[in-house]
Amino acid sequence: MSATDVKDSVAPGEPELSSSFAERFPELGAESQAIDAPAPEPVIVNDALAEFLGIDVDWLNSDDGTAFLAGIKLPAGSVPIAMAYAGHQFGGYSPVLGDGRAILIGEVSDADGELEDIHLKGSGRTPFSRGGDGLATLPAMLREYLMAEAMHALTVPTSRALGVVTTGLGVRRDKIEAGAVLARVARSHIRVGTFEFTARRDPELVRDLVDYSLERHYPELVDAEVPALALLEAVANAQAKLIAKWMLLGFVHGVMNTDNVLISGETIDYGPCAFLETHDPATVFSSIDRHGRYAFGNQPAIGQWNLARLAETLLPLIDDDDDDDDAVAKATVVLESFPGLLREHWFEGMASKIGLVGQHDQEAVGALAGELVEMMTRSEADHTLTFRALAKVLRGETPSGFALASDSAWENWSQRWQDALGDADKTEVAAAMDAVNPVYIPRNHLVEEALSAAGVGNLEPFQQLLDVTTSPYVERDGLERYGEPAPTGFTEGYQTFCGT
Ligand code: AMP
Ligand code: MG
Repeated sequence: MSATDVKDSVAPGEPELSSSFAERFPELGAESQAIDAPAPEPVIVNDALAEFLGIDVDWLNSDDGTAFLAGIKLPAGSVPIAMAYAGHQFGGYSPVLGDGRAILIGEVSDADGELEDIHLKGSGRTPFSRGGDGLATLPAMLREYLMAEAMHALTVPTSRALGVVTTGLGVRRDKIEAGAVLARVARSHIRVGTFEFTARRDPELVRDLVDYSLERHYPELVDAEVPALALLEAVANAQAKLIAKWMLLGFVHGVMNTDNVLISGETIDYGPCAFLETHDPATVFSSIDRHGRYAFGNQPAIGQWNLARLAETLLPLIDDDDDDDDAVAKATVVLESFPGLLREHWFEGMASKIGLVGQHDQEAVGALAGELVEMMTRSEADHTLTFRALAKVLRGETPSGFALASDSAWENWSQRWQDALGDADKTEVAAAMDAVNPVYIPRNHLVEEALSAAGVGNLEPFQQLLDVTTSPYVERDGLERYGEPAPTGFTEGYQTFCGT
């Protein structure tokens, strides 16, 4: 193709997409198109992410860019599909879920040379919509935008948000709300549920899906002796690392169904998620999680349960010599390693959070970390602020509202902690702690406030909260209210919702 051909076929600045997943796995997608939005309008565009993805920022902010984000004008190379997947939802198996209100429009190559999916959520009905309308509301898509970008700033592997546009359509929920589409970016949208779907529908295809997943996410393992086992190990490690991060931050995902667990180890599906205020393992925010299956403290165990569902789909590939027991034994070793892996990642993170990184006495650090969490639970301490307060203690300040101070174990713990720090410079340790312990997180009352305003056309509080939570570690003058716990009574009974 000559340079003129390219010019003729592609508008200036328009990205070219690849569609490797759609082309390689026609069995795992249904061709699907976005609803013809009557009046697409940009609400927010993530210029920094666009740059990382090599997408022309001016083009993305133009009318053509808006049409792209709404899914009504797709660039060259795009093969839009609704992805097929199954999933265990709250423990029960649904053989066909799939993208009921989203489409994968293709992939771009990011600044690191990695493929990134561009996926539109809220883009209309698909062959997987069942009774659903295929749509999403503006507040829900802004919520996902905010949560994903805050998590990214908090160094958690996550899907990202490239932009939100309103469609000009009304969406019926409790009341009529503005319809919106979120352009979501992830290293891929291959889920545990994608493997479950494939294993039951087309077992021969699982091998290809393993290979493709390794190529995209764990290329160092493509030549592994048993690729399926290598993939299971890699996903176990990625999920252990991810869930450890959630636990360190006080993040409750809320709907850890296998269709919401990515093979890449990124967080996805910011529906009913929320951050802890006071540290309590039993915390549940999701309105549909009546039995607390996905409570904060259950997340590590559920992570292991979800991995077992992945392992089941891989068994025939783990041992080719028809000796099923052998495959089960090998997979079991991986599954049984999961709690230890997660604990290791957690201890490592916790050591940084309390300034004991690089300490040799791992056992002492482990004991201090474990006891700290017990104290936090007992004294109903604010999860986030506790770690900022500990740094203040090191600086000789008296943190206000520091719940641990009144715990009977505090003096003893504090003494042993400071002994463990040895002769390290306390100011330096405190600074290192502040660099990993956020002061600003998307607290539920702030999120609700911002989304209510956005729902009636005032985006200012949302922009401000996004700005605050995407620079989470350095305290800034004038932002005091963003670093404070929710008003008394707010969190009690606070509920979040799916499918909004
Ligand atoms: P989630 O709980 O968001 O992971 O969604 C679970 C399943 O329900 C997925 O297959 C979604 O695509 C589907 N879904 C959620 N909301 C809608 C909707 N409004 N219309 C159609 N499908 C939906
Ligand atoms: Mg989902």
